[in-house]
Amino acid sequence: MDNCIFCKIARKEIPSNAVYEDDDILAFHDINPAAPVHFLLIPKLHIDSLAEVQDNHQDLLGKMLLLAPKLAKAQGCEDGFRTIINTGRAGGQEVFHIHFHIIGGRERLPGMI
Ligand code: 5GP
Ligand code: ZN
Repeated sequence: MDNCIFCKIARKEIPSNAVYEDDDILAFHDINPAAPVHFLLIPKLHIDSLAEVQDNHQDLLGKMLLLAPKLAKAQGCEDGFRTIINTGRAGGQEVFHIHFHIIGGRERLPGMI
C-alpha cells in the first residue's frame, strides 16, 4: 500500500526504532508511548484491520501472537503486559494497517482502558 504509514515503516521509507524484525513481521516502539514499554507489532503484509483478516492470514497472525510474549519479556515485561488491537474508527483505530499494541512497564490503573 503506497500511502500506508506502517507499510512505509516496514519498507524503511520512514525510520522507526525496531524491536524485532523477520521476513514477515516488524515490531517497533510507538512514537507516542502510553507507558514505559509500548511497542507495535505489525505484519509486513498490509491488512487494514482485524475486521479484514482472511483465512489465509491464520499462520501470520498466529506467528504474531506467539511472538508477542517473547518480545514483551525481552523488553522487560517479566510480570505481564497488555495487548490491544484497535479495530475500525469506532474502535479507536487511527492507522489502518493491522497492529498489536504491546504495553507494559506499569500497572493498569483503575479507569484505564
Ligand atoms: P491506533 O490508534 O491505530 O491503534 O494506533 C496507532 C499508533 O501508531 C499510535 O499509538 C501512534 O502513536 C502510533 N504511530 C503513528 N504514527 C507512527 C509513526 O510514524 N511511527 C511510530 N513509531 N508510531 C506511530
Ligand atoms: Zn500498510
